[in-house]
Amino acid sequence: MSGSRTPDATNQSPPLEGYDAYGADPWLRAAVRRAGVEWITPAAHGLGQYVGSPEAQHHASLANRYTPELRTHDRGGTRVDLVEYHPSYHALMNRALGAGVHSLAWKRADGGFSARAALFYLWNQLEQGVSCPVTMTFASIAVFDQAPGIAREWRGKVLADAYDPQPLPVARKPAATIGMAMTEKQGGSDLRAVRTTATRDGMGYRLNGHKWFCSAPMSDAFFTLAVLPEGVSCFFVPRSLADGARNTFLIQRLKDKVGNRSNASAEIEYLDTMAWLVGEPGRGIATLIGMAHHTRFDIVVAAASMMRSALNQALHHATHRWAFGKPLLSHVLMANVLADLALEAEGAQLLAFRLARAFDLSASDEGERGLQRVLTPIAKYALCKRLSAVAVEAMECLGGNGYVEESALARLYREAPLNGIWEGSANVICLDALRALARSPGAFAALADEVGAARDRRLDRAMDSIKVVLADADRAQSNGRRILETIAVCVQASLMKRHGDAEAAQAYIDSRLDSGGARAFGTLPLDAPALTRLAGRARLETDQAS
Ligand SMILES: Cc1cc2nc3c(=O)[nH]c(=O)nc-3n(C[C@H](O)[C@H](O)[C@H](O)COP(=O)(O)OP(=O)(O)OC[C@H]3O[C@@H](n4cnc5c(N)ncnc54)[C@H](O)[C@@H]3O)c2cc1C
Repeated sequence: MSGSRTPDATNQSPPLEGYDAYGADPWLRAAVRRAGVEWITPAAHGLGQYVGSPEAQHHASLANRYTPELRTHDRGGTRVDLVEYHPSYHALMNRALGAGVHSLAWKRADGGFSARAALFYLWNQLEQGVSCPVTMTFASIAVFDQAPGIAREWRGKVLADAYDPQPLPVARKPAATIGMAMTEKQGGSDLRAVRTTATRDGMGYRLNGHKWFCSAPMSDAFFTLAVLPEGVSCFFVPRSLADGARNTFLIQRLKDKVGNRSNASAEIEYLDTMAWLVGEPGRGIATLIGMAHHTRFDIVVAAASMMRSALNQALHHATHRWAFGKPLLSHVLMANVLADLALEAEGAQLLAFRLARAFDLSASDEGERGLQRVLTPIAKYALCKRLSAVAVEAMECLGGNGYVEESALARLYREAPLNGIWEGSANVICLDALRALARSPGAFAALADEVGAARDRRLDRAMDSIKVVLADADRAQSNGRRILETIAVCVQASLMKRHGDAEAAQAYIDSRLDSGGARAFGTLPLDAPALTRLAGRARLETDQAS
């Protein structure tokens, strides 16, 4: 038999599965406690167990391997414009929407955004293709508030904790999902370039034109942009009309994407498509900004969650895999890499949940409303820029095993850059944050207060230097990325000092504040015991026992 038998597999780390992603994560439990939303604990344990289960992870893998297919016509040649998904994608959608990952923020006034952020943080450790329709459906509520006539029929269905993929009129469905279609071939960042036209037809309008990116095309309705004589305006396009007929929504092809493969993203054409005006004519971009602001918030939570997921995989592997006579984690240079990744993931998590808290308090506190407005683009920019670097470094921690599709890191790696691109690419996000800082004198003060709460002179000095750059509009624009990065680091450092571990906070400040942005993970200036402590404390509690 010699030569034909594969030797036993030894020294392979076991798959990270069969654990409760909430119960095993002390950082997340602390975030829930800080936000005063312990009422989410049973639901978080339930979702955490699902996220950590082999069953859910298998669904995630299948949904991304067997990607959606477009069926434009039926057998007889009638146009149907359907997208067919793998059953695992439907299973995941069913679980996410059933758990209220899209709806909870709007249902509970006592910390709904923070509690929902905990669920979304858990979900994104599992699968991100489902996160796209979940996020758009969540964020759509911000626009429904401006369309009371449409909201009467749709809002309840959008907030229902259920999933119904049937292509039927909303009246015949228990639950509905919503997408947003804005980007056209000639422009995505510059939406003033939209060319789709809208023409009055009775109580509604007829749209003619195209959209170059339209994700989750099987959603039940879309908020979209089209041009009226007054300018670019916002419209509501249901996929099915009240009489049961399908609205014209021609799916031309599906994008062959780098990642996010379980989710379809389509090119579509409107051909006399029925639509209803939302908000004022000519104010379409402003109307949809409310939705985009909420999707940007979700990207912040998702990016923090994906960092946690990458870190978990790296720490788990380094705990169980041996090289040169001891576990990888016991090698000081590996401990440095893992400790450094842990600092990044912890800072990101604290920032995401601080932002969620600001959303929760916005209704009653003007300062928090201002903070939420300006911190959302800052956090989106900063975390998205760090996410790809985290994913790559975590992948390398697994060696060759990280670079194969069976590893969860492969999917995270492909997914990571997308967060920086959609819902406003980095420069556009920088300009948005600079606009918010310029328009509202209180915005910088709110950020400085948040940083100042840590009573750390180095952080305060860094914020003072940013204030000087901001005072010169030209200088501010060319330094936009540096400004946002510095503010994000200061806010994260302040949060770590106040809520994290003192040693970790100091290491974060020493390594991030004056780094000039050019540093690899694993370059912390600390001794071996400190590195081992910092890496060890970041492990899931299931791995701490090993
Ligand atoms: C997988 C995927 C799914 C998507 N799904 C949807 C969807 O469902 N609905 C939808 O409407 N869109 C969707 N999009 C489109 C996405 O929102 C746009 O791609 C994005 O907003 C960027 O627009 P663009 O592609 O036209 O790039 P451009 O606008 O051409 O931008 C190119 C680059 O130029 C930079 N830039 C632009 N303006 C400036 C400036 N003033 N100063 C400095 N730099 C600038 C940008 O930051 C970017 O880096 C999706 C995209 C992807 C990749």
